[in-house]
Amino acid sequence: MKKFLTLIMILLVTGVTFAQPQKSSKKPIIGISSTWGGGTTTSVPLNYVKSVMRAGGVPVVLPITDDPELIARMLEAVDAVIMTGGEDIDPLKWFGEEPHPALGEVIPERDLFDITLIRMAVAKGLPVLGICRGEQLMNVAFGGSLYQDIPSQVKGTYVKHQQKAPGYYGTHSVMIETGSLLNRQIGLDSVATNSFHHQAVKFVAPGFKVTARSKDGVVEAIEKMGSSKVFGVQFHPEVFTANNIDTFLGIFKYLVEEAKK
Ligand code: MN
Repeated sequence: MKKFLTLIMILLVTGVTFAQPQKSSKKPIIGISSTWGGGTTTSVPLNYVKSVMRAGGVPVVLPITDDPELIARMLEAVDAVIMTGGEDIDPLKWFGEEPHPALGEVIPERDLFDITLIRMAVAKGLPVLGICRGEQLMNVAFGGSLYQDIPSQVKGTYVKHQQKAPGYYGTHSVMIETGSLLNRQIGLDSVATNSFHHQAVKFVAPGFKVTARSKDGVVEAIEKMGSSKVFGVQFHPEVFTANNIDTFLGIFKYLVEEAKK
């Protein structure tokens, strides 16, 4: 009888131990960088939010601030970060080039916030996914530069990178490096992506490598070498994913899995 009770006790204690909530069993929190809508709102396109939810993460918006202490605290509260698309990056301030006449809208406060956020997130070892501007910003934040305007600066470009087709529709092909993170995430060597950009990675940041290009050589994906959790794409996987097209869902699922570690 005593042995039996001991066994019950062991089972109970073991059960209680295993029932303790563990970090890996919870849905991870994915911080999403935001922009200012007309100076009156802090906004994130719903497609990013829906994609994170579909992949099993909990999306939270990270509002622009110039206070590094606030940014550090935001990063304590999240398990991964998505740097979103949007405005052009100030070329003079962040990679030492005069502004090309075709340079688009620049929000200096967003640049500063985004650059500080991504540098601190990577230093902290958090997984980071950069999308469009977010991918370009990843490159600039770690010492790379950009073509400020593809049509006027990329020699021999012949692919339309500003599609007029719907966002959930792939219009140009992208060739993916075998064994790269993107290749493993979506399981494809080539794919048709959407394309909404007039800028692209030029000089690749030290420590990073190109993992995908369009047929005209424009950089369409990068990743940090020797890391499994810092990567960016020039296209918009969130538009497909939010519209229940699963071609690129693996990118977000991968981020969520890395965020659980
Ligand atoms: Mn493109």
